[in-house]
Amino acid sequence: ERSDRSEEQVSGAKVIAQALKTQNVEYMFGVVGIPVTEIAIAAQELGIRYIGMRNEQAACYAASAVGYLTGRPGVCLVVSGPGLIHALGGMANSNMNCWPLIVIGGSSERNQETMGAFQEFPQAVRSSIYGRPGACYVDIPADFVTLQVNVNSIKYKECCMPPPVSMAETSAVCMAASIIRNAKQPLLIIGKGAAYAHAEESIRKLVEQCKLPFLPTPMGKGVVPDNHPNCVSAARSRALQFADVIVLFGARLNWILHFGLPPRYQPDVKFIQVDICAEELGNNVRPAVTLLGDINAVTKQELASKKSLPMNYYTVFYHIQEQLPRDCFVVSEGANTMDIGRTVLQNYLPRHRLDAGTFGTMGVGLGFAIAAALVAKDRNPGKRVICVEGDSAFGFSGMEVETMCRYNLPIILLVVNNNGIYHGVDKDSWKEMLKCQDASTVAPPMCLLPDSHYEQVMAAFGGKGYFVQTPEELQKSLRQTLEDTTKPSLINIMIEPQGTRKAQDFHWLTRSNM
Ligand code: ADP
Ligand code: MG
Repeated sequence: ERSDRSEEQVSGAKVIAQALKTQNVEYMFGVVGIPVTEIAIAAQELGIRYIGMRNEQAACYAASAVGYLTGRPGVCLVVSGPGLIHALGGMANSNMNCWPLIVIGGSSERNQETMGAFQEFPQAVRSSIYGRPGACYVDIPADFVTLQVNVNSIKYKECCMPPPVSMAETSAVCMAASIIRNAKQPLLIIGKGAAYAHAEESIRKLVEQCKLPFLPTPMGKGVVPDNHPNCVSAARSRALQFADVIVLFGARLNWILHFGLPPRYQPDVKFIQVDICAEELGNNVRPAVTLLGDINAVTKQELASKKSLPMNYYTVFYHIQEQLPRDCFVVSEGANTMDIGRTVLQNYLPRHRLDAGTFGTMGVGLGFAIAAALVAKDRNPGKRVICVEGDSAFGFSGMEVETMCRYNLPIILLVVNNNGIYHGVDKDSWKEMLKCQDASTVAPPMCLLPDSHYEQVMAAFGGKGYFVQTPEELQKSLRQTLEDTTKPSLINIMIEPQGTRKAQDFHWLTRSNM
């Protein structure tokens, strides 16, 4: 029996089909004829779906779309000559779209004694899906299809691995993060490369965490749903025309995007390009930063780098607004803290906002908060008082924290701490500055001691103190203080010492007649 087996013969067609099966090919589209009919039959026998089409061009379009949708190349099976010529349309389209595809064409016979293994397939699969995806052509001579070979003489190459995931250089990631952070009118353009990269979850996170407006290209639609509030498709021309920073996620600056040139864009718009294809970077425009790598991986890098950065006013107020009870009293004082806070924090009831007032007085906040807490206690038990203070403003009457503790008033004090009046400097710069000189000679007058632990003032009197540096810590401490109705608490929120970024609303897109 053993020797029988060793003489078992198998056709070239079956070997081809098995080689494709080994490469996880699931779908084959084509128009059969001599000599490729046997390949289609053999493929079907092995469980590869064969869809016979009416023209090779449509077959090839279908196979390339399967590649885009599944990430593994679809196969298009054609005869030589006219068959292949018809398939060329699909191959060109697939290459232009950066979609993986394998076209197998049967050509005329050639004298060949043994066939050996189909080395071509792992290579074809690899080059169709690695790097920038695209079309591959494998030419199979007719006599290969009909030839009988000894089963034992065939060794199938194992399935080629999924493409390795590449990440962008760290310095480029940081630079991109800082450009986006300082943008006045940023815009993400989401292309079909992002769709192919399965980057939907990471990009949605980036859109939401940084509150960035986005514009999908035709096939980038749906990566983040079209009905997302940050989708600016309805104002496409304006979005392109007025953006000062544009991040390209798998979208090329070709005719679809007006080549990235004025008048459709600002002449000095900063492009941040994310692409897996190095040759694409810097095409048509000179980008501010290029991020060479897989879109999903690079977006995650951006999200991670963002986490380690200090928060700014908008991040802080966004999270506060999210958790504030609608009926609470909001007391506020400070410079930027009060100004920016007023635009973000909502009031729903009259007489529920108390701030520096007509006289612009700093130091009123804690007294106001104590009054509001007493009134609330007597007339609206359970109603909360939130006191949002700049770090300088807090200092004007910080000792009233003792009063709050003495009378057990569950006030929530939020100190938005940027190390100074208007703004300060970070701890390292402060140390550097004081290396050889006294603070009174070199320290800018608006600086306060960096990283002061104001929350310890609250803790000193038995209230609850929190020191927070990240959005996650802020969310968590807010939740805890809102749950605790028994005592006052102070959340010391560290933000960027120099951070006064513009609001990320999208009025710049909808303002008419501009
Ligand atoms: P659109 O037509 O949606 O603007 P394009 O076809 O112009 O999209 O651009 C798609 C880009 O996506 C190509 O430049 C391609 O190199 C890139 N791309 C494809 N897959 C990935 C990936 N996994 N990571 C990064 N870039 C990718
Ligand atoms: Mg494009």
